[in-house]
This record gives sequence, C-alpha cells and structure tokens, in this order.
Amino acid sequence: MSIFTRIIRGDIPCHRLLENERVIAFLDVNPLSPGHALVVPKEEKVHLHELSEASAAALGAALPRVAAAILSETGATAYNVLQNNGVLAHQAVMHVHFHVIPRFDDGRGLGIAWKAAPIDHAAGAALADRIAARLRG
Ligand code: AMP
Repeated sequence: MSIFTRIIRGDIPCHRLLENERVIAFLDVNPLSPGHALVVPKEEKVHLHELSEASAAALGAALPRVAAAILSETGATAYNVLQNNGVLAHQAVMHVHFHVIPRFDDGRGLGIAWKAAPIDHAAGAALADRIAARLRG
C-alpha cells in the first residue's frame, strides 16, 4: 500500500487542502517552494494512463482550483504542474499524483533541464500517424 493510500485512509496525517469523493490534495512534506502541493486520485493506480475516466475527470476539475488557491495564498504568479510516471521519470511514490509547484523570481520552485532538439519531421509524421490510429481504435 502506498503512503498516499495511507493518507487517504487517514492512517497518517497531512496538511489537507481539498478532499472529495475521488481526489485529495495536500502539501508536499518536502516542498520545492512554499505551497508545493500534491493532487492525488483516491483510485490506487501507479501510472496516469491506468486511471479511470472518472478519476481523470475529477483530477482535471481539481487541479485548476487547487492551483488558483495556492497562487492567491502564496503570492506566486507562476507555477509548474509535474506528473512523474515510472522510476526512470523520477517517480518515487507509486500512486498517481500531480505536483503543483509555485515558482518564485528568487529561483524557488522546479528547476528544469530541458534538453530539446528539433523534430525529425518524417519520423514525427509516421509516429503521429501510428499513435493517432491507436487513439481512434
Ligand atoms: P514523485 O517523485 O513524483 O513520486 O514525488 C513524490 C512526492 O511525495 C515527493 O515530493 C515527496 O516529498 C512527497 N511525499 C512523500 N511522502 C509524503 C507525505 N507523507 N506527505 C506529503 N508528501 C509526501
């Protein structure tokens, strides 16, 4: 059982921001900046792509509300939403969660190393066709 399931069950405490039938949001215990929060589905899944549509919809509804309240209370005007899937992608808690991380002009917040390169359009077109076909199917 993940530590977030234990929080959802009330077995361990958290600094709760919002809770409804499908979602809970609370402050991260090891924040990158003041207001750093986690928005968590109550459904026990490891990866985002495993979630039910009902959980996904509830998360989608909660995230903007949680972010707006955090901005109002912290005075931040910028923030990142981060969602890690898999150990390779920096996931440490194996229960789906979205980070909402306020970014301040003194550098507090999420640091990003974005090693991008221009797309290969031929390969990109072929890949997009295959993914789109899966999405239609
Ligand atoms: P991730 O790398 O996306 O899996 O991040 C997991 C996050 O969960 C980290 O930022 C941790 O600080 C946070 N975390 C772990 N345990 C707790 C807890 N008991 N209460 C609040 N946040 C937690």
